[in-house]
Amino acid sequence: MAMVRQTRQRAAVIEVLQTSREHPDAAAIHAAVRERLPSVSLGTVYRTLDALVAGGVVVTLERAGLATRYDWREGTVHHHAVCRACGRIFDVDAAALPAVPSVNLPGGFRVTDVHLEFMGVCDGCEPRTT
Ligand SMILES: [Zn+2]
Ligand SMILES: [Zn+2]
Repeated sequence: MAMVRQTRQRAAVIEVLQTSREHPDAAAIHAAVRERLPSVSLGTVYRTLDALVAGGVVVTLERAGLATRYDWREGTVHHHAVCRACGRIFDVDAAALPAVPSVNLPGGFRVTDVHLEFMGVCDGCEPRTT
């Protein structure tokens, strides 16, 4: 039965990632999964996330001093806008941006993925000017 349990846990983690727009960290994913599968441990969530990252369907968003955030990648190519004040990460549709300009890459370097990060302050944090 261990395999069945593992599969259900994995499916629950995937569903949380696919439905969340919040770029949750492992603790938030764990909390959401436990609403459905109360016995899931944080360690299991970490192991599942590691496997999904290794499989290329989930990417990690690392920021110094903050917990690693997780983002479902498959089928949703997008960039990110990060609020320096509250740490929220917003998705930016890649199709809405002009093509990435060609840059000087090391000879022979093959680009497989481009990820842009816009740093700034979100609407909720920006002091309103009237
Ligand atoms: Zn903000
Ligand atoms: Zn994202």
